[in-house]
Amino acid sequence: MEFIAYGGAREVGRSAFLLSEKQRKILLDCGIKLGEKVEYPKFPEGFEKEVRDVAISHAHLDHSGHLGSLIANGSKPIIYGIKATKDLVGILLADYHRIGKNIDFTDRDVSEVIRRFHTYEFKEEFKAGGYKARLYNAGHILGSAMVYIEGEKKVLYSGDISTRGTRLLDGCEKNLRADALILEGTYGNEELPGTKESVTKLISEIKETIKEGGHVIIPSFAVGRGQEILMLLENYMKSGALPEVKIYMDGMIKKAMKIYRQNVVYTKDEVQKRILLSADDPFTSKHFFVPRRRDRKDVLEEPCIIVSTSGMLSGGPILTYLKELAWNPKNKIIFVGYQAEGTRGRKVVDGAKKIEIDDEEVELRLKVAELRISGHAGKSELIQFAQGIKGLKKILLVHGEEKSLEELAETLEKKYEVVIPKALEEIRI
Ligand SMILES: [Zn+2]
Ligand SMILES: [Zn+2]
Repeated sequence: MEFIAYGGAREVGRSAFLLSEKQRKILLDCGIKLGEKVEYPKFPEGFEKEVRDVAISHAHLDHSGHLGSLIANGSKPIIYGIKATKDLVGILLADYHRIGKNIDFTDRDVSEVIRRFHTYEFKEEFKAGGYKARLYNAGHILGSAMVYIEGEKKVLYSGDISTRGTRLLDGCEKNLRADALILEGTYGNEELPGTKESVTKLISEIKETIKEGGHVIIPSFAVGRGQEILMLLENYMKSGALPEVKIYMDGMIKKAMKIYRQNVVYTKDEVQKRILLSADDPFTSKHFFVPRRRDRKDVLEEPCIIVSTSGMLSGGPILTYLKELAWNPKNKIIFVGYQAEGTRGRKVVDGAKKIEIDDEEVELRLKVAELRISGHAGKSELIQFAQGIKGLKKILLVHGEEKSLEELAETLEKKYEVVIPKALEEIRI
């Protein structure tokens, strides 16, 4: 069996991996890399036309964002995934099409992506690219899956995983069987703080700002962290642990919330029970608000909490808020997620005093806080996850910056054959 990474090799972004042998072939994910400019997978000339089978681990654009272009470039693939992934890919691709620059696909290609999805349930066996395949819960965002492929060898692709479970989701499936594991290593060189610790810090940071009469802005991905943070704030406000202020959701987070609600069967039992048995639907909480005005002036009137896209400050309504609120040291921006190198978000976290928004220089006088409420597994969780896989011999590390993957490899090498693939390098599994 051969493995090639067209993206997602020694980087976070544009995940696209090909598994092939004899007549069998399947592409695992088809993403883009969003930074100051968009980068695509390094597919060879004419490759896209020949892609017939694509399994999508989850809806984040670094795993699905190239699907529109794939269709535009002449591919007529079957796309495999969980139903929630199909729904979320629909809104994320449509949004990317709407606001992206130099987009090379049309709305019709987005509809075609959706039409070409074949959806399966977790653990259900199906055929894909001539292989036997199954999807397992990855615990990362709604509908996120690990992809299991069985041909000459049994291969498990982790996609993005979280082992510990969240307010909305169960942790990823463990103790599976595979000969080889394609493993993400976003936090391969970092232990993530306990969820409790991060949540306590988040709540006290927010309380401090509200008390001072300031606004809290929380940049977030549209799908995943956004919903987790909203649920968390709702729970704390309901219990009285947070003062009652409006919680605004803005940008794609609103739409994604709806899809979470429609696909609530993929959330954990507790959430489903709360909705079904007590008619207490956290998704329609009285604490949630959406802005009424295009210029968002209504949101700026009184102290409140704003959760908005984009998560790394590369675009979206968060920039409007930042422009309006950055001058006042009473206000605070709280980062809860990964800030990739080269992004505006990383600059702010690293202590920049000024940033540019729409060719305008914005002075940052608001407070900056950073904490991790991650949808990924940290170093020892990744190691434990790998060690739980029965029959495992070989590990390919992807979806991480080089230093992170190298540190993760150091420990894993003691027990397994570990490879950190370079882009376009052919690797035998
Ligand atoms: Zn992801
Ligand atoms: Zn990812």
